[in-house]
Amino acid sequence: MRYLTADIIYPISSSPVKGKVVVVDDKGTISDLVEEKDIDPSKIERLKGSICPGFVNTHCHLELSYMKGKIQSGGGLHHFIKEVEKLKKPGDDEVQQAIRDADAEMKNKGIVAVGDICNTSNTFAFKNSSPIYYHNFMEVYAFAEDRAEAAFEKGVKLQRESRNNSSVTPHAPYSASQKLLKLISEHAKKNNSVLTIHNQETADENLFFLEKRGSILDRLNYFGIDTSHWKAPGKTSLQYTLPQLPSGNKTLLVHNTFTSKGDISFANSFNKNLYWCFCPNANLYIENQLPNIHAFIDSNCQMTLGTDSYASNWSLSILDEIKALQKNFPKVALEEFLKWATLNGAKFLGIENTFGSLEKNKKPGLNLISPDLSMVTTLA
Ligand SMILES: [Zn+2]
Repeated sequence: MRYLTADIIYPISSSPVKGKVVVVDDKGTISDLVEEKDIDPSKIERLKGSICPGFVNTHCHLELSYMKGKIQSGGGLHHFIKEVEKLKKPGDDEVQQAIRDADAEMKNKGIVAVGDICNTSNTFAFKNSSPIYYHNFMEVYAFAEDRAEAAFEKGVKLQRESRNNSSVTPHAPYSASQKLLKLISEHAKKNNSVLTIHNQETADENLFFLEKRGSILDRLNYFGIDTSHWKAPGKTSLQYTLPQLPSGNKTLLVHNTFTSKGDISFANSFNKNLYWCFCPNANLYIENQLPNIHAFIDSNCQMTLGTDSYASNWSLSILDEIKALQKNFPKVALEEFLKWATLNGAKFLGIENTFGSLEKNKKPGLNLISPDLSMVTTLA
């Protein structure tokens, strides 16, 4: 048994406290949170900084870790995709080593659970031996209606190969036909699975759905995808796409960089189990723009945090994402960001009985954050 205290403790399920001790057993299970005076002082480990639960990273692409340091930051999403295209495909050994390194980095940075986007089975074998909890999202895409079934089947096949909890999920509004969204929705309803979709990462995503123009249209044409029969619905990408997904399944919208207040209230009224994931460093890396965080807070949204992948980030660290948010939104309390980074993510993934808060009998992982937020040390 260890008796740990620090300058401040963030249980997350209740207000931050001082003068309390986290009692944790050898396996990392929280045995109690008690007043300091009730513990023999010689047993107490006093630490500098704050103690909080392990972090939940709700948006990552572990299989893209081999791109670390290879894609230049800045230049927008269109430039980014061209950079990714130019990249030479590495050998299997390099891909697997990068996956192992990225997983080890996340563990060292206090991440205990990850919602991971999968286009291949490259990470599956490794995940069986990782101490991190993974939920695999099999990402499917096909803009053309006649390719919907094949794309969906590919996702289902991948899901059969995965031993982790998993879902079949759409990539983004502009890469899914109505038919593909219908197939995914029926599958999700049948399996009561959680869904995720990249949302409004660029201004041009809305422009495509509102007016059928801009860089998304250019990109579809560039890839030789026939858009001639497609008509713009005249709505934002979110307002067009969300009603085609089930309203009862937990759904995570990722990025939300160009989401308006109108979009937020529309979306929240459609689905009561909606979660909004921010990946601020990826947004800064690609578009150099951040979502309007205050609009989401004012609308009582359930926020989570993600690192996205090494194709578009300098690190896979939730603490680094918190730091980016603190720098840009200094009025928001650290407590709020920590809730997004822990309990909200655990609730979205359905693992809140184990992860997300410092409560008796949970085994959430324990992080010590240094006073200047520069470092995280894992305590359990
Ligand atoms: Zn992503």
